Amino acid sequence: VDRALSSSEQYHGRLCAMSEEVPPSADRQKLREWVEALVLSTREEVARKDQLEGQLRESAHEIRNLREALESTRAEALTDPLTGLANRRHFEEMLQKAIDQATLRREPFALVMADIDFFKHFNDMHGHLTGDQVLRLVARTMKDKFKDKAVITRFGGEEFAIILPEADVVAGKFGAETVRQALLTRELVKRSTNESLGRITISLGVSVYRRGDTASSIVERADNALLQAKRDGRNRIVTEDAVQDAAKVA
Ligand code: GH3
Ligand code: MG
Ligand code: MG
Repeated sequence: VDRALSSSEQYHGRLCAMSEEVPPSADRQKLREWVEALVLSTREEVARKDQLEGQLRESAHEIRNLREALESTRAEALTDPLTGLANRRHFEEMLQKAIDQATLRREPFALVMADIDFFKHFNDMHGHLTGDQVLRLVARTMKDKFKDKAVITRFGGEEFAIILPEADVVAGKFGAETVRQALLTRELVKRSTNESLGRITISLGVSVYRRGDTASSIVERADNALLQAKRDGRNRIVTEDAVQDAAKVA
């Protein structure tokens, strides 16, 4: 574009200069030379314009490709590659968004933290690759149950965080219970050997948005509830109001 602008300025300058030096019409020879010079610089300008159009078209194509690459890189940066769920980074963005909306519109939302029970033992018994399949199964079960009504994320390791929009503590507990039950019905079978690996269970903690909450305060309450669920024997749901003081301190 810079080159085009400067070339078009030059052309404009040449036209201005030539218009000041129009030979008298009686001097046919001079007039012919003048017209030839004019035709020549116009031809040059047209050729430069054609070349520039081609380059602009190429640049537009390149910009489109870069934009697509950027979008897919951004999506990748927010996705957990193993489960295809939103990752921790995306969770933090979405949780802040939920808090901002709840503050603005006074809509409640619930946060469910889920953790697979005795997963270290499972890995030790069956290997990490089979463990990875379990993480995928849990993710799929959550997606099946909530569809797009919740933001389901892999918080880290074998922990998941679910943001349930417009949910109070009852709805949060109900959502958590749906996933816990669904997992109970799934018997794990190792594909390569058809060997039954039993069932896995999860423990869940539920907190709900309170005015003045920050991302860490609402996560902390769900986490404390989850800890309580583990203490109470696992494979269960504890809501924040049922957390005993001992767990809060821990
Ligand atoms: P609890 O019931 O108290 O939660 O016990 P746990 O064994 O599930 O908890 P712990 O924190 O001791 O162990 C978590 C295990 O999760 C250990 C780690 O190897 C496993 N884990 C974390 N991320 C992955 C992963 O991406 N793939 C596999 N296969 N295992 C993972
Ligand atoms: Mg854990
Ligand atoms: Mg665990």
